[in-house]
Amino acid sequence: MSIPKWKIKGIVDDYDECGCCGRRGLRRTVALMPLDADGNEDGTAEDVVYYGTSCAATALGWTQREVSATARAAQSEQDERDAYARRVISIYAPVEFAPVRDMARVYYGRNASRRDTGVKATEEVAKLLAQARATLADTTTGPARPSGIEDFRRYVVIFTHDRQIHLIRRVPEDEFKRQEQAASAHRRADEIGGSVLVVAALDAQAAHDVAYADELTREWNAKAWQAAHV
Ligand SMILES: [Zn+2]
Repeated sequence: MSIPKWKIKGIVDDYDECGCCGRRGLRRTVALMPLDADGNEDGTAEDVVYYGTSCAATALGWTQREVSATARAAQSEQDERDAYARRVISIYAPVEFAPVRDMARVYYGRNASRRDTGVKATEEVAKLLAQARATLADTTTGPARPSGIEDFRRYVVIFTHDRQIHLIRRVPEDEFKRQEQAASAHRRADEIGGSVLVVAALDAQAAHDVAYADELTREWNAKAWQAAHV
């Protein structure tokens, strides 16, 4: 078997034109990254081509069904990397410019095994944030995704009496609806003997992480949201 010339990176809904035969009006295209003779990715997002499923199948010598399945799997991996990046940013971006002591407490609080190993919290946090931002800025299978603190949204979190998340909801922009939601969240928390917390994050999944994080992480989270919305 010869080494394939392309690697399928994902599914793209934004391009409806096949970069191979020029056919238009496709429901989606497949993002293909060129590979070098050793099968390594040979390029950046700018070198990626977008083919319809049938041209991608011809280029790879695969069936269309294989192309579709591989593209779906690649896209779901990309989506998982994005979700992880949003969690990293939601936790660490607010402490990026915090005093080193606070940053270290937040980092080692989540990575206890790294304590006293010579791993520097400041460097690790910078590395994690740089990777996460690069992931969300990657345009191989679609436009860049929001990644800044200014892109955080607020979520109301209801905890049970034993500090498990009972419910998590996006806080509405509208002031009246926001108050209504806060009142009903407190009523619900009272009913179950729980409590209410508001956190800021890039999405609901990341809001989970922030809600379960230590107090210092949540303090910086609240500060960051306020600073971005004065
Ligand atoms: Zn084509």
